[in-house]
Amino acid sequence: MQIIAPARVKRPLVDSYGRLIEDLRISITDRCNFRCQYCMPAEGLPWLPNDKVLTDDEIVRLARIFVRNGIKEIRLTGGEPTVRPSLPNIVRRLSELRSEGLESLSLTTNGVLLDKLAGKLADAGLTRINVSLDTLVREKFHRITRRDCLDRVLRGLETLEQYPTIRPIKVNVVAMKNFTEDEILDFARFARSKPYVVRFIEYMPLDADGNWKREQVLTGREIFTVMNAWKPLVPIETEPSSTSRRYRFVDGIGEVGFINPVSEPFCSTCNRVRLTADGQIRTCLFSIDEWDLAGPLRAGATDDQLGEIMHRAVAHKELKHKINEGAAFQRASRSMSQIGG
Ligand code: SAM
Ligand code: SF4
Repeated sequence: MQIIAPARVKRPLVDSYGRLIEDLRISITDRCNFRCQYCMPAEGLPWLPNDKVLTDDEIVRLARIFVRNGIKEIRLTGGEPTVRPSLPNIVRRLSELRSEGLESLSLTTNGVLLDKLAGKLADAGLTRINVSLDTLVREKFHRITRRDCLDRVLRGLETLEQYPTIRPIKVNVVAMKNFTEDEILDFARFARSKPYVVRFIEYMPLDADGNWKREQVLTGREIFTVMNAWKPLVPIETEPSSTSRRYRFVDGIGEVGFINPVSEPFCSTCNRVRLTADGQIRTCLFSIDEWDLAGPLRAGATDDQLGEIMHRAVAHKELKHKINEGAAFQRASRSMSQIGG
């Protein structure tokens, strides 16, 4: 495979299967103000102690080294990134990495604090956003997130509409059997009546309770079939590394997407690594092993030495996840909110 990295990058991050790594997800906290059933337990799951969590300076320094090694896209996530008070400051400082080659800075959030934060994030230089919203029905929202906050999330989305520098606004829906089916067309109408790209994500075995069952996965194909029968969907071309299959409705109004990691794994084109809130590199959502950056960073490692750890981690990136391989599948060493989805 031919590897084409930007000229600015002396030594791109390439794994042992020839995949060029250009996308970094940074978890800035493992804490969350929701308790989504598919992610966290109702109670428990102790937070990382404060002194384990990377400081703003540490996040920015590691991000800069990643960018100098070819990372083009950074997405901030968690836990819930908006519960970290310094989020706008982190965004502002990371957006300065554009001068070093960063092309995209985005945020994944549950949206509940966006009515207060959207303006600050736009001012700080955020350019893209994903808001998680699994249902448009108040009672179901309360049940799935264990918080009665649907109105507030919808208000957050509407607040975002006032800030045109943050585009696109993507709405991420975790699709589950016996939960999502009756809202497929409501979400289609939502995508057509609002300036949001609605994307369905298959439920993965990353819940802290370990309750995931294959039968609960509502596949992208199943949702596509219902929507397409209602109003035909036309494919939109995507980058090979895109996780999502994108479609427009035939009349050009509204965009939807399908992220199908369980039924149609996209590991062969995966260009992502993750940095956890406590400074560990994870090269796959389903990693069993992690690569420590926080320890060497705090022990005085140079940028070159930290860059070397990034290269070593990437060289060991897993070929693929094994969700579909029966007994060979091992659950990840941490659950979704602790990894940074
Ligand atoms: N708290 C933020 C949020 O919910 O958007 C950011 C962190 S959350 C872990 C990132 C994404 O992972 C969300 O879109 C969430 O819906 C998704 N997610 C969490 N657990 C999941 C699971 N078991 N399967 C699929 N997606 C999951
Ligand atoms: Fe929190 Fe996001 Fe996990 Fe829901 S999906 S519990 S909002 S981290």
